[in-house]
Amino acid sequence: MPRAMLSAQREQRYRAGLEAALDGGFALLASGGSSLDAVGAAVRILEDDPCFNAGHGAALTRDGAAELDAAIMDGRQLRAGAVASVRHVRNPIELARRVMEKSRHVLLVGAGAEEFALEEGLALVPNHYFRIAERQEQLESEQRGARVSDLLPAAQGTVGAVALDGEGNLAAATSTGGMTNKRPGRVGDSPIIGAGTYAKNGVCAVSATGHGEYFIRAVAAHHVCAAVEYRALSLEQAVRELLHGILPALGGDGGLIAVGGDGRIVMDFSTEGMFRGARDSAGKREIAIY
Ligand code: ASP
Repeated sequence: MPRAMLSAQREQRYRAGLEAALDGGFALLASGGSSLDAVGAAVRILEDDPCFNAGHGAALTRDGAAELDAAIMDGRQLRAGAVASVRHVRNPIELARRVMEKSRHVLLVGAGAEEFALEEGLALVPNHYFRIAERQEQLESEQRGARVSDLLPAAQGTVGAVALDGEGNLAAATSTGGMTNKRPGRVGDSPIIGAGTYAKNGVCAVSATGHGEYFIRAVAAHHVCAAVEYRALSLEQAVRELLHGILPALGGDGGLIAVGGDGRIVMDFSTEGMFRGARDSAGKREIAIY
């Protein structure tokens, strides 16, 4: 969100949402929970918060519906679960975890994913639960706007979390409504393992936000991990190469959060700002927007 559009009151709401997610995830880690539990809990809190483009408050398709994507990855065994284009699952990140743990698959989409959610006893809600007036206004203003593309990078706000736990396990989770005015059935980078979400123990965990088509084409999250693992780049260098070299050369922008196997935290972006927060066991606690 451009600085000029963010009132003090709104900024307060965003910061409160970030703090709740950060502290919710961190509390789990501090009590011996796994990185997988921590990223799932943090993302779930953000899905329920209408400020962010995921779950309740998701960006809308050009038909005015919410279609949600999410993924989770466990750095231990490269296990992953993801869902795309779901319309009725209250917390898509929970379904992504069930896909990872309770199915033989990695990615389930649409009606099949929702049937699985039903079998798993997850909360299903009518589509209007996700839709809020502000997203409807964003959709209408984009549809009135001068831009001709049906994929406008205006309303980004995907949520994600990455964590390293006391046992050295890395995990990443991402959830989104995708991009405002997207075509129904469009799937972004968030649920594509290696594009918007990736984690590998000893290397790094990455969750991305931005113009998803570019992140898919650059295999963004995996690019960062591969650059660290195979080219011995530092996590900062790998992220910088992606966000300020590879993606802009394609015409894409966005940002990501990452944590290394050594606990190093990197949060970088090529947009004006990115809502973000970080905590660690040494006492660091940071919430920032620009
Ligand atoms: N990356 C998401 C997508 O393309 C959008 C976002 O980050 O806001 O679906």
